[in-house]
Amino acid sequence: MGFPVAARPTYSIVIPVFNEQAVLPLLFHRLDRLMEQMHGTTEVILVDDGSSDCSPIILCARARSDPRYRFIGLSRNFGQQLAMTAGLDAARGEAVILMDADLQDPPEVVLQMIGKWREGFEIVYARRKTRAGESRFKLATAALFYKLMSKLSAVEIPQNVGDFRLVDHKALAVFREMREQDRFVRGMFAWVGFRQTAIEFDRDERAAGETKWPVSKLIRLAINGLVSFSDAPLRLALWMGMGVSAFGFLYGLYVIVTRLVSSDYVPGWASTIVVVAFLGGANMMLTGIMGLYIGRIHNEVKRRPLYIVSRSAGLEESEAAAPSSMDERPARRA
Ligand code: UDP
Ligand code: MG
Repeated sequence: MGFPVAARPTYSIVIPVFNEQAVLPLLFHRLDRLMEQMHGTTEVILVDDGSSDCSPIILCARARSDPRYRFIGLSRNFGQQLAMTAGLDAARGEAVILMDADLQDPPEVVLQMIGKWREGFEIVYARRKTRAGESRFKLATAALFYKLMSKLSAVEIPQNVGDFRLVDHKALAVFREMREQDRFVRGMFAWVGFRQTAIEFDRDERAAGETKWPVSKLIRLAINGLVSFSDAPLRLALWMGMGVSAFGFLYGLYVIVTRLVSSDYVPGWASTIVVVAFLGGANMMLTGIMGLYIGRIHNEVKRRPLYIVSRSAGLEESEAAAPSSMDERPARRA
């Protein structure tokens, strides 16, 4: 089943799923309603990111019973950024839409995105006008992150924009060439360029289940974003190192002058210790920041596949024709 290889669908909708069994029935319902309103053929690519609940079973069943749906099951939890990548790699549509499974990105907004795409924009991202059901802490830290990011990064990464977006196949082709390990998908799409535009929407609360992004993971994503798209932390280390050294030098001068001009000079090693400590601190900071980047180099040179597909359904004609479309052959993508 699925589309013959020659007939590519007009749209692909890519959805990463991680332990979302509670929202899936509602998600399918909303997607079906959305697809009725979309002109042109649509495929929905459901990527299971190593869920431990019943999500993969539900998704696979859907892909087998409905030719518009396709299923990719990753071999473990690779994280949302890589799950999205797996789906984007499999998408064949002329325009590809990325959205979350939890219906925080209302599917109806996709129709507006399509309108902009038809006007000729290659990337249409959705800017959150409001965000329902998010803690004040998350809103404040997100705002701070976007501010910092726009100050430090060389490419303009739009503020208050998540991964919910439509991407033309031309822009997607470039994205597919970018095989970096530490991914910040929204930043990568900003880097790609082309004609980009925004539409605004009110972000809903999660339809069911709970967020899969604890603070620790969010911090990691933020650091990834900063380090991948800016070398400002490295430059900051340099300036701070220079500042601290200059301070140490001036302080040394001050000590010498005091020694020469005044008699109530207190001999002691406190001053030495202060200078040494400052220098040590500066060194450590610099080393730490270099470590961040070297860690990344280390990660990149390993050239591991970004994700591993363990099974799939509805993906290709040949697969669907085989006795079991949930085949066990591991498909690897580098
Ligand atoms: N997700 C995923 N892998 C993960 C974490 C999340 O595929 O390791 C998916 C999740 O199922 C959802 C989307 O990424 O479709 C966004 O996650 P979530 O709604 O938990 O994030 P939030 O909206 O709270 O930022
Ligand atoms: Mg969510």
